[in-house]
Amino acid sequence: MHKNQNWEHTIVLFYLYTTIDNPQQLMHEQRELCERLGLLGRTIIATEGINSTLEGTSDHINTYIDTMKQDERFANVDWKLSKGTGDAFPKLSIKVRDEIVSLQLGADDFSPHETTGNYLKAEELHQWFEEGREFYIIDMRNDYEHKVGFFENSILPALHNFRDLPKVLPELNNLKDKTIVTVCTGGIRCEKASGFLIKHGFTNVYQLKNGIVTYMEKYPNQHFKGKLYVFDGRTVMGFETDSPEHEVVGTCHHCGISCDEYGDCANLSCHVHIVCCKNCRTNNQVFCSDRCRQKVLTQAMSG
Ligand SMILES: [Zn+2]
Ligand SMILES: [Zn+2]
Repeated sequence: MHKNQNWEHTIVLFYLYTTIDNPQQLMHEQRELCERLGLLGRTIIATEGINSTLEGTSDHINTYIDTMKQDERFANVDWKLSKGTGDAFPKLSIKVRDEIVSLQLGADDFSPHETTGNYLKAEELHQWFEEGREFYIIDMRNDYEHKVGFFENSILPALHNFRDLPKVLPELNNLKDKTIVTVCTGGIRCEKASGFLIKHGFTNVYQLKNGIVTYMEKYPNQHFKGKLYVFDGRTVMGFETDSPEHEVVGTCHHCGISCDEYGDCANLSCHVHIVCCKNCRTNNQVFCSDRCRQKVLTQAMSG
């Protein structure tokens, strides 16, 4: 039985590193299947695997998963289900790319088949916290993602984009002989990030299996503070957010009050993604700065 029986809509998140001999063919099959089931979302297919987030009615998502499971390549996928909104994605996009997630290191980029960190299950990480073991969590998400939620005592490198990882490496050099756990939303970025650390001399590297989303679901409000940023219409997701244990850790970019609502600067040539409270919006729009606000409002007056 699927766990989403009481939800009207479900979002499924999954990835798999596996050899796909004919990505174009899989793209066409996926498009046909998703269109038939009315699913919306994003799928990237490459010869190294598949990476996908889709939303549909719970019945249709379950049919999708059951159909995928009939293909032996996808028999061992970890399907991460969460409650949908019915409008998490504006459209369906299924694309073939060179890689399913890219560090963009050119010839130095590598496949997780070669080098990747040891898997650490959510249960094991939770136990490590409870035991007070010495380990260092390195958050491999982008800087704007961890503004509203993160593991306690974790290292939050200023990654504006995943491909900035080589730039922050010098800050992490003192941890080469420590126990490292890399974390990201669903696990896919850690497949490469943990391998990258190993290639650069880190000696004891783990990666959180199935990512923060799986950990949070099992241990809501325990050692992970705040909410999880997600790349769909929900923007953030939390578990048991009504609990007194739940903390809002984000702060408004402008006034500093507790807040975990995101917005994009309405100046389209800027468009930065920031945390901004309702009070600090102008006509419901978000601006990162007075400069951007002035620019847009002047344009509106003259246009
Ligand atoms: Zn504010
Ligand atoms: Zn701006």
